[in-house]
Amino acid sequence: MRVIADFHFHSRFARACSKDLTILNVERTAAFKGVHLLGTGDFTHPQWMAEIKRDLHSAPEAGLYCTDEKSPVRFVLTCEISSIYSQGGKTRRVHTVFVFPSLEAAEKFNQTLRKRGAKLAGDGRPIVGIPAKELAKIALDISPKAIVIPAHAWTPWFGVFGSMSGFDSLLECFEELTSQIFSIEMGMSSDASMNWRLSANDPITLLASSDAHSLHRIAREGNVFELSQRNQLSYDWVYATIKDKDSKKFPYTIKYYPQEGRYHYDGHAKCRFSCPPSQTKKLKGICPKCGGKLTVGVMARVEALADRPEGHTPKSPIPTKHLVPLEEIIAEALDKGVGTKTVQNEYEQLVKAAGGEYQVLLDLPIEELQKMTKPIITEGIKRVRGEKLHIEPGYDGEYGVINIFTPEERKELLGKKQDTLF
Ligand SMILES: [Zn+2]
Ligand SMILES: [Zn+2]
Repeated sequence: MRVIADFHFHSRFARACSKDLTILNVERTAAFKGVHLLGTGDFTHPQWMAEIKRDLHSAPEAGLYCTDEKSPVRFVLTCEISSIYSQGGKTRRVHTVFVFPSLEAAEKFNQTLRKRGAKLAGDGRPIVGIPAKELAKIALDISPKAIVIPAHAWTPWFGVFGSMSGFDSLLECFEELTSQIFSIEMGMSSDASMNWRLSANDPITLLASSDAHSLHRIAREGNVFELSQRNQLSYDWVYATIKDKDSKKFPYTIKYYPQEGRYHYDGHAKCRFSCPPSQTKKLKGICPKCGGKLTVGVMARVEALADRPEGHTPKSPIPTKHLVPLEEIIAEALDKGVGTKTVQNEYEQLVKAAGGEYQVLLDLPIEELQKMTKPIITEGIKRVRGEKLHIEPGYDGEYGVINIFTPEERKELLGKKQDTLF
């Protein structure tokens, strides 16, 4: 049985997050999409924790929680903390995700943070002055089975490997605790093959998370687990699968294209200038339009820390499958906005018919899909599965642009359909 797991998104109590993010709405959305394992997110926030306690209870699977035993969705306790501190004479800003095996352990973690002066009520993702390593120590002292995951590891400002205020290695950040940090979150701007270029990442399990701020983005990126039986699932199973980096139990991650991330290429958004790292070197890091500093993106940062050429594949790899969210495929095929009624109706009808969003994106044969939806949408899904798309990389906070069809291709495809109709 396949389980799609997303450990990192936020509640309505985190900054810039949708008011619709309640536990019950999250559960409903995940069930509809065919997602089975979610982090609670934001358990450090007192009001969200109260909602967790009100709406979730222990599931039959040890260490997991559910709204109702009959629901296909299970929750695990997670939160994200932003640490801002000084180390080695530099300001460091690092986000870390924590996964805990029980409500009791999560509450102890909150108490300890409060005792250390952390203000937890202001934001679902609190900002603390406690170094990432200290947080890891607190978590692991409370529960040796806690999972400490450096969040969106490559993001320039808040990633552990970030170019602006991160570190050059996990060792530099976590020192003697490094061996207990066995996974990182790749973040939107990197994928597995980019991370494989660092031999230091060889023992590390690469995770994908949505970091969603609204319901429809939940599990837009995630981890695909394979269980021989549903009743195998438990906190310990998840812990061991991630820790052991077992590619049989964890065959791949699903992600957006890293180029779509806001910091893939280098560039200067104000001047609408972007370039690959090789050109940044030639420009000596200076924006050719204004003379200001270019923001160095994830690709350049990987290049700087990599000790292997592009194209290296490790033994028993857990690769990334690149996807485009179904709503966006439909929107592009129909040349309409994602939020429009036409797109939403088509999306809901197709997901219902197929029994889940990932059934549509990953599993169902094209011939089956043809019976459920329009030919141009089926063609879009086929192209996404074949990873044959038109890509403009993101830079300096600007999202990249991925197109499945050029306007000419769309016209041609729609024309074809007309021909068969008349
Ligand atoms: Zn974050
Ligand atoms: Zn500029």
